[in-house]
Amino acid sequence: MQFKDLNLIDPLLRAVREAGYDEPTPIQAQAIPHILAGKDLIGSAQTGTGKTAAFSLPILQLLYNKRVKNKQRPIRALILSPTRELSLQIGDNIATYGKFTRLRHTVIFGGVSQNRQVRDLERGVDVVVATPGRLLDLMQQGYVNLNEVEFFVLDEADRMLDMGFINDMRRVIKELPEKRQSLLFSATMPQEIQDLASQMLRNPIMVEV
Ligand code: AMP
Repeated sequence: MQFKDLNLIDPLLRAVREAGYDEPTPIQAQAIPHILAGKDLIGSAQTGTGKTAAFSLPILQLLYNKRVKNKQRPIRALILSPTRELSLQIGDNIATYGKFTRLRHTVIFGGVSQNRQVRDLERGVDVVVATPGRLLDLMQQGYVNLNEVEFFVLDEADRMLDMGFINDMRRVIKELPEKRQSLLFSATMPQEIQDLASQMLRNPIMVEV
């Protein structure tokens, strides 16, 4: 199996090649076709399996293929992750994979001034990677509009639960449009995460690695 067998578009294949990847990891090979087909998905995978590319590549492709021409870019993809470090890492991955797509992204997390984050949001970004607390804070201040979100990813859902973010996750999900594609990644599947999955996903495909 090669990346080109996954029907990825040229700008992404080039980026993957530049990143030095030879072939897709198992989670990538299994998840990417379903995500490209528009399915909701539960990925049961640890960090280190290549799960970030497994959701980032197809989302970038779907965003790129349906580019919006208007200048005021709405947020079209939202990725929630539990920590600043993980969010920054996902942001770096999106910069790497998306470098030939002209799609824009920003990373939102607490513990730092919100000025740069607000500036990015006001300029317009296609993809937001965020920790729940700061995202809710900026939503309450009116800087974040989730009405146009088409793709939603909950990454490391079990860790978010452990860190006490279950209500924050629910509050964010409540603000998302009904019509969207959702992906949930979690190393383990405790009952609360299964419940959340059944609330936020529609006929999800299960992928386990
Ligand atoms: P992740 O599980 O998303 O945190 O990815 C773990 C590491 O694997 C990251 O450093 C990625 O850059 C790298 N990686 C992701 N996909 C591939 C691939 N297909 N081939 C080689 N390395 C990869």
